[in-house]
Amino acid sequence: MSRDYKSSQANSAINTFNNGHNLRNGKVHWMGLAASIAILGSIFFLSTDNAKATRNEALVLAPNTALDISSETITAPATRITLPLAIPQGSAGNGTGTREKPTFSQPKNSAKQTQPKLPENNIDWRTATVKSGDSLALIFARQGLSPQQLDRVMRADKSTAALKRLMPGQQFTFHIDNDQLQHLVYKIDALNTLNIRRNAQNEYVVATDTREMESRITNTTGVIDSSLFLAGMAAGMSDNLIMELAGIFGWDIDFVLDIRSGDHFTLVYEELYLDGHKQRDGNILAAEFVNRGKVYRAVRYVDAKNRADYYSPDGRSMRKAFIRTPVDFTRISSRFGKRYHPTLKKRKNHHGVDYAAPRGTPIKAAGDGKLTYVGRKGGYGKTVIIQHGGKYSTLYAHMSRIKPGSRRGKRVRQGETIGYVGSTGRSTGPHLHYEFRVNGVHRNPLTVRLPDAAPIKAQYKADFLNKAQSLVAQLDVLQRTNVALNDRGE
Ligand SMILES: [Zn+2]
Repeated sequence: MSRDYKSSQANSAINTFNNGHNLRNGKVHWMGLAASIAILGSIFFLSTDNAKATRNEALVLAPNTALDISSETITAPATRITLPLAIPQGSAGNGTGTREKPTFSQPKNSAKQTQPKLPENNIDWRTATVKSGDSLALIFARQGLSPQQLDRVMRADKSTAALKRLMPGQQFTFHIDNDQLQHLVYKIDALNTLNIRRNAQNEYVVATDTREMESRITNTTGVIDSSLFLAGMAAGMSDNLIMELAGIFGWDIDFVLDIRSGDHFTLVYEELYLDGHKQRDGNILAAEFVNRGKVYRAVRYVDAKNRADYYSPDGRSMRKAFIRTPVDFTRISSRFGKRYHPTLKKRKNHHGVDYAAPRGTPIKAAGDGKLTYVGRKGGYGKTVIIQHGGKYSTLYAHMSRIKPGSRRGKRVRQGETIGYVGSTGRSTGPHLHYEFRVNGVHRNPLTVRLPDAAPIKAQYKADFLNKAQSLVAQLDVLQRTNVALNDRGE
């Protein structure tokens, strides 16, 4: 249960976080947490080994997705072997016995390599292993294939560029007939295989076959003693999974300031397997976090456009429409309201918040919206204004550089970089001047009540509620099981 903690793990967690913004692929919206995470790093070092967790492997909650091994996938044999085209009689055929591409697995030892021979329909597969210093030309030449054939293969499709990234130990599997390449199989990596086939018109047709990892659904729970990270590690969670959990609830819970001993969490998540070996954790499907007795629950939903997001079981977004702080700042150099203006040397109303940050620090769009101003704007210097629906707008000033490609009317997504911290216009040093307006009126960005992001769309609501119900039922089961375990005086 205990796991050695190393500082490098903490750093990697933070790096993963910083590099992990991925709004487009339906990943969690992380930005709101950026400042907290920098502080979380220090929490790693506070204490050790006192987080309690229970992991409940016995509860299998949902059917696993079937392992998708495409019939196109070929695991190349280690040595030259002869394979029957047709599936031998009596084998567990699936009705596609005459398919051109056989599926076979790597023989365990040479004694077992003798395959049943069907002389009328044999394919002579030859395997070549990439050696140090090899080139594609050399590999083709060793098979007796002309440079012209290699050239035709390479021109067939741009995906053949994968053939150029040779690493010693990789394998090519050739089917050559009458000195003509008929079929070439090249395993790009564990998931992707390139198949190049000669068709009846004597053209090479290229296809990349991608295997999907098998998703197994599992669950875990943890009780916090000192920090989410220690409890997460004790619960067997990877750094990424802990960050994802923090990202889901980070809009409601400040994981530095709000956390108390005894807070606990439960999650149902995917583990991704390939050939029976776990590759990595997948997505969190449902999670519960109890903070000072208050229960927060979230369910993941993927819509028809393949966009994933987290919602409360009744369909409210777990996110806010705006991130509170659109930049990773070092300090707040000026607050909202009356102040003495250092440049103008008089008292003036400050309509925003100034965040001091190093020149070049990325500035993020606080919410989804449309650019309504891009360019220089008097004392504001290089400025961007975003309109968010009819009611809200945000302004970002003194940029050193506006993100290239920005123009009026362009849509931006929450967390997307729109420019970089600078000191253009009337400014004494690099900082972001940030304004938040509601119906045209300036509001304090630090305290204004941020609206929730849009709830589940009406067209998905019924489907969402249906799926959420089953996930919530799983959380309930886990909750009861853990209470029972804890009551036994664990
Ligand atoms: Zn300012």
